[in-house]
Amino acid sequence: MEKLVRNQSLDQERCYIVGEAKPRKRLIHEQPAAIEKTACNYDYIKSIWRDFEYYFEADDFYVGVQTKRGCPHNCCYCVYTVIEGKQVRINPADEVVAEMRQLYDRGIRNFWFTDAQFVPARRYIEDAKELLRKIIASGMTDIHWAAYIRADNLDPELASLMVQTGMNYFEIGITSGSQELVRKMRMGYNLRTVLQNCQDLKDAGFDAMVSVNYSFNVIDETYDTIRQTVVYHRALEAIFGADKVEPAIFFIGLQPHTHLEDYAFENDIVDRNYNPLIQTPMNGRKLLWNPEPLGAFFGSVCLEAWKSNPNDFGREVMAILERRLGTTTLESALSAPIVEKPKDLVKA
Ligand code: SF4
Repeated sequence: MEKLVRNQSLDQERCYIVGEAKPRKRLIHEQPAAIEKTACNYDYIKSIWRDFEYYFEADDFYVGVQTKRGCPHNCCYCVYTVIEGKQVRINPADEVVAEMRQLYDRGIRNFWFTDAQFVPARRYIEDAKELLRKIIASGMTDIHWAAYIRADNLDPELASLMVQTGMNYFEIGITSGSQELVRKMRMGYNLRTVLQNCQDLKDAGFDAMVSVNYSFNVIDETYDTIRQTVVYHRALEAIFGADKVEPAIFFIGLQPHTHLEDYAFENDIVDRNYNPLIQTPMNGRKLLWNPEPLGAFFGSVCLEAWKSNPNDFGREVMAILERRLGTTTLESALSAPIVEKPKDLVKA
């Protein structure tokens, strides 16, 4: 924006002016510039935004604060890594606290850390701890906060700091409770570790709500992997309490520039020339990802859940799946043996 105002060239930037230039090839996959982000200046925003106060009206809700940008993972359906890039840029903890302080002084007590992931990988655990310690040192001790948490990237000290600083809700997007499918979706985490870390959070005193995001039928779902997801969810319920763990069930929306889009092209599920912005019913049906052979099965499960218990949809879906398909062992959910393909014999 600064370059635009100064009438400088945008050639080296990850953007182009529509009508004046064309996007470079693979521009969308270039890494964003590593600019250090300072705190929002809410006095300034108020001076230019007439409806500023409206932003704070629902006082039971969370106000967003970003603590970092980027995510290094590879989850097959996710577009965060394209929009924000794979390089994680940590916002200085003092700037984050300064931004929170401005909101705090305006009466805000509930914060949502809007990062793609609050702890994107284990090497960012110390950054998360630094921020939480600075929040404590700032004296904002009556706040609550929430975030997306990759629960494989915790340790007992971080779990304790999270509880101490007022985390009262978090979402874990494990997508599936089957290690085999987690691997196939390139999500890069270990479900056993997630369970252990959730136990650490519980032991640290966490006693609030957890939302667990599941998207069935992404890649290679079978009745066995569905049973594994249900049994895994029951294990999370055993840790946090069934009333505290809410299964949030939704279908993946197919996003441009993702591995899943490549998969859809290669398997003739979506035409290579499709326009993701044109939502015809036929397009919409394909982009809301629920392909056959299990598409009709999941459709009927969801309809039954909507009819019988719309106010507790996620738990109802889990109950229906368990009723229709039975259950399995937790160990089967946690193990994903690598099946070696037979090697072709080299002919002499
Ligand atoms: S960890 Fe979350 S934000 Fe990162 S690639 Fe996976 S789904 Fe996207």
